[in-house]
Amino acid sequence: MKILKFGGTCLASEDTLHRLTKVVKDTDADKVVVVSAASGVTNSIKEFLSKPRQENEIDDFLLKIKLRHVEMLPKKDGQKRKEAIEQIEAKVTKLERLLYGITYTEELTPRTNDLILSFGERLSTIVVASRLSHEGMDAVPMETDAIGMITNEQYGNAIAILDKCEKNMGPALHAAVKKGQVPVVTGFFGITDSGHVTTVGRSGTDYSAAVVGYSLGAGPIEIWKEVDGFMSADPKLVKDAFMLDTLSYEEAAELAYFGAQVLHPRAVHPARLKGIDIVIKNLFKPESPGTVIGKSKMTRKDIIKSVSYVPNVATFKVYDTGAGYKSGFLADVTDCFHKAGINIFSAATSQTCVAVLIDENDVPHAKKAFKVLMGTMGESYHVVSNMALICTVGEGFGQTKGVAARVFNAVAAKSVNVDLISAGASMVAYHFTVDKKDLKNTVQAIHDEFWGKELHQNTANNPVS
Ligand code: ASP
Ligand code: MG
Repeated sequence: MKILKFGGTCLASEDTLHRLTKVVKDTDADKVVVVSAASGVTNSIKEFLSKPRQENEIDDFLLKIKLRHVEMLPKKDGQKRKEAIEQIEAKVTKLERLLYGITYTEELTPRTNDLILSFGERLSTIVVASRLSHEGMDAVPMETDAIGMITNEQYGNAIAILDKCEKNMGPALHAAVKKGQVPVVTGFFGITDSGHVTTVGRSGTDYSAAVVGYSLGAGPIEIWKEVDGFMSADPKLVKDAFMLDTLSYEEAAELAYFGAQVLHPRAVHPARLKGIDIVIKNLFKPESPGTVIGKSKMTRKDIIKSVSYVPNVATFKVYDTGAGYKSGFLADVTDCFHKAGINIFSAATSQTCVAVLIDENDVPHAKKAFKVLMGTMGESYHVVSNMALICTVGEGFGQTKGVAARVFNAVAAKSVNVDLISAGASMVAYHFTVDKKDLKNTVQAIHDEFWGKELHQNTANNPVS
């Protein structure tokens, strides 16, 4: 059985919808489809919620949303089209009630916010199911709150409770497939045990697809998008970057977390637990094998497989003489950031300083949050802004002599200063920061060092043993 996940960019035009339909039709296996909201829809809902709004703006907004989805339906008039339009209208009516509700009460809780955001996927599944039915498949839209994708209560960034999902969604989806149906499942949201809708984080449909794969105990999970797969580096920075055939779960997780915008970092976890492959596929080149992420730990002769980056980070350094001896110091610093909702990319500690890497945009919140700690913990702090975080990834990194030296020599040869290094936590990745202005040079230098200036497509995944 295959899980086919389509992102918003696959629901962007008549052409992409046509390609999507063809991919599903040509998939010669039992299948479950998982879809994101159509391109731009979640953003437009989010934007509408973020501004003060008048009652009379709601109708215009909803009309646009409705037309956008109706226009994506198969053009041929008939009973099926009529039914799909009715389904869309029913969803829009529910959304309308919610929008009036929050406008009257002038209140938007995280819970209601998640419920409203889920409508992008509720609508897109109707469209996709209708397109597939038009091609002769028995496709049925299925909403993840109805079929029991249970999550914790962390609104906006919920985590699936996998054993409960397996118990609920597994049998529901298996039964549908057994009947010959093609379930078209909503990505992006689930439901708490107490019955409230939760979203799993922006671009989270990859994660939903992995949870579906886990629940069915089936795979591969194909992630269909508009790019080839994971690359040896960002082709916008490195002209001779090439596509990677295989990655281990750990490599993919590190790359996804540290900037490669190919896969949602959390999608790896459920797939790894069941040993299910994730395959990144290009909607515009369906014949291309894409990048396969799975159990196989393929090492390249030169160890490094890819170099990724996060372009806007800052190092927040907290100084305290004797920080190394004060028990709970690191916990207090990270707790302070956690409570302020600030994500920490990486951390390093020394006798007198704890340094954490955060998104540049979070610096003002971090300073505010940190004031509370000053005096009791931490004597002073210093923020190093305008940094970029570079991540080099390869299975076998942690066990091979001389790789780090080659990375840092290549970078030093370009006169780039390395600020903070984090190595050893992961056996497959090294991270370090450089000044943002040196980002392109650094990525290029590492790529040149390990792959020379020409394409080495054939040796990209050369096993050493
Ligand atoms: N529609 C959601 C978003 O835009 C989820 C997704 O695209 O995967 O974030
Ligand atoms: Mg999206």
